Amino acid sequence: MNRPMLTGDRVYRIHWMPGTDILRGVCHCGAERTAEEPVELWEWLLAHPQGHQAPTASTPAPQRLAVPA
Ligand SMILES: [Zn+2]
Repeated sequence: MNRPMLTGDRVYRIHWMPGTDILRGVCHCGAERTAEEPVELWEWLLAHPQGHQAPTASTPAPQRLAVPA
């Protein structure tokens, strides 16, 4: 009589970034997106694969560190 958990091959996660109003959503495909509105994140997650990019498909932009003088 075991019911499967809601952790199949479709896992969505939303993390709240402490100290900010920013939420980070992680799709089961590995795509990530940040937003301030949970609804916006959920709509994006459920719209998969629209607007989703595979991590290997996007070219990571070089990060610059701001060095205080
Ligand atoms: Zn996705």
